[in-house]
Amino acid sequence: MKIGILAVQGDFEAHQKMIERLGAETAFVKAAADLEAVDALVLPGGESTTQLQFLNDEGLFQPIAERGGKTLPIFGTCAGAILLAKEVKNPAQASLGLVDMTVVRNAYGPQIESCVTRGITTLSDQPIEMVFIRAPMIERVGPGVEVMARRDDKPILVRQGRILAATFHPELTEDATIHSYFLKLVRDER
Ligand code: GLN
Repeated sequence: MKIGILAVQGDFEAHQKMIERLGAETAFVKAAADLEAVDALVLPGGESTTQLQFLNDEGLFQPIAERGGKTLPIFGTCAGAILLAKEVKNPAQASLGLVDMTVVRNAYGPQIESCVTRGITTLSDQPIEMVFIRAPMIERVGPGVEVMARRDDKPILVRQGRILAATFHPELTEDATIHSYFLKLVRDER
């Protein structure tokens, strides 16, 4: 099993460290051909506008949109979650449309623009450390989306089939709970 990580910009190396620590192989994805060699894809945090441009320039957008959730499980964090959404606001931006949710970019306001907190998820009784960096807010989720964690009542960790999206950055903490769960989704062991 090989986990591809979109390696354009942002914190892709943190995902690589976490996934390799869990014993899975990784490969950086920078071009459409790289997708052929991986069993799953991570869309890291960073700047979603830059990443979107790259997906379009490299011909990655179409194959990811087609295979995502079907033959390609995906885990998106922060900017990655923005790319996965069906609708993006503030400002509106094209996206892969793979998760039935509406996200509002940079929506947490200046006081909590970036912060570290702890929160409960459906994955464990123990709270998980959560790093938010200019995070998007998930404003709406459709009926096919499971909400696995919330902050101030808003979803922050969601799953639609074999696609997982977090508005925070589990790759920037020591806690591997969420990445382990993604590897289970990839192995279809839910
Ligand atoms: N603010 C970024 C965006 O809108 C996301 C920030 C992040 O990934 N940490 O694309």
